[in-house]
Amino acid sequence: MRPYLLLTPGPLTTSETVKTAMMTDWCTWDEDYNVHIVEEIRKGLVKLATHKTDEYTAVLLQGSGTYCVEATLGSVITPKHKLLILSNGAYGDRMGNIAEYHGMNYDMLAFDETEQVSVEYVDDYLAHNAEITHVAVVHCETTTGILNPLKEIAHMVKMHGKKLIVDAMSSFGGVPLDVEELGIDFMISSANKCIQGVPGFGFIIARKSELAHCKGVSRSLSLDIYDQWETMEKGHGKWRFTSPTHVVRAFKQAMDELEAEGGVQARHERYCRNHEVLVAGMRSLGFKTLLDDTIQSPIITSFLYPDAAFDFKEFYKQLKTKGFVIYPGKISQADTFRIGNIGDVFPEDFSRLIDAIKSTIKA
Ligand SMILES: *Cc1c(COP(=O)(O)O)cnc(C)c1O
Repeated sequence: MRPYLLLTPGPLTTSETVKTAMMTDWCTWDEDYNVHIVEEIRKGLVKLATHKTDEYTAVLLQGSGTYCVEATLGSVITPKHKLLILSNGAYGDRMGNIAEYHGMNYDMLAFDETEQVSVEYVDDYLAHNAEITHVAVVHCETTTGILNPLKEIAHMVKMHGKKLIVDAMSSFGGVPLDVEELGIDFMISSANKCIQGVPGFGFIIARKSELAHCKGVSRSLSLDIYDQWETMEKGHGKWRFTSPTHVVRAFKQAMDELEAEGGVQARHERYCRNHEVLVAGMRSLGFKTLLDDTIQSPIITSFLYPDAAFDFKEFYKQLKTKGFVIYPGKISQADTFRIGNIGDVFPEDFSRLIDAIKSTIKA
C-alpha cells in the first residue's frame, strides 16, 4: 500500500491501519456512524484544542481546508465588520482572495515571506484602525514552513479587544496549543495534516458564544458553519448533505493513533526529531535552509537550490524511484524545494532519505 513515502504537507503518508479503516461501507444515518464516530470525533477535537471543553465546539465540513477557511470567514464576517488579514505567504494571501470574492470589508497587512508576522506592526495597526473587528492569521505558513508567533499575536489582538480567527491547518495536532488560553475564537484545520487522516473534510473549533452570532450570516448554503453545526448538534453527529463516510472513519482511526502515540506533545516531539535528522543531514550534504532556525516550524522545511544548475525535476524523479516524494517550492524570491516532516514517518525514514539524497547528488 506504500509505493513511496509522501514527504509533503498533506495529503501525507498515513498508517496502514488508517487506510484499512476505509475498507468498510458506512451508512450516514446509522448510529454506528454518526453517534459513535462523528460525535466522538467532535468531542475529541475539542479536547485536543483546549482544556476548557465546555466553551468550544467542533464543526466538521466537507471539502478541503480552504473550504473551511472560506466557510468560517463567510459565516463570521458581516457587512458591519472589518477584517484584518495578516499574511506572510500563500495561505494568508488566500484569505485575502476569499475576502475579495465575498466583497468583505477588509485590510491586508503583508509581510515578507521569510519573516514572521510582526507583533509590533499588528499592535500599531490596531491602535490606529479602531474599525477593525476581527483579525485572521495563519499559524504555520506552509508556503515556507515559517511558524508565526501565535501566542504573542493572539495576546496583542485580545489586548485590542478584537476577535481572532486562526488558520492552524498545518499545525493543529502537531504543535501544542490551547485555543482558550490564546483567546482564539475560530480555529481551522483539516483531516489530512497533523492528525494524519486522509483528505475529504476539514473542521472548525469555534467558541460557542461567538458561533451563536453566525446564524444567518453566510451567503452560501453549503459553507454555512452555523447551519452545519446546528444540524450536527441536534442530529447527534448528522451532517447536512452526504458526508465523506470512509474519510471520517479513517480520521477516527487516526485520532485513536494520535492518542496511542501520547497525544499532541509526543507527536510534536517526533516531528521535531524528524526535522532535526533532516536538517542536520541536508546541511552535511551542503544544502542550506531558506529560513533561520529560530522561526522554522517542525512541519515542513524549505531548502535553497544548491546552485543555478540544480535540476529539481530530475532530483524529484530520482528520489521518487528511491521511495520518497518531496515537494516543489512556492515562493518567488528564491529557488527552493520543500520536504515535509509530518505524517506516519519517523527519524529513521529521514536517515534513509538523506542516504538517498546523497547517492542522488553524487550520481
Ligand atoms: C493545507 C493548508 C490549507 C488548506 O489547503 P487545501 O488545499 O484547501 O487543503 C490552508 N492553510 C494552510 C496553512 C495549509 O497548510
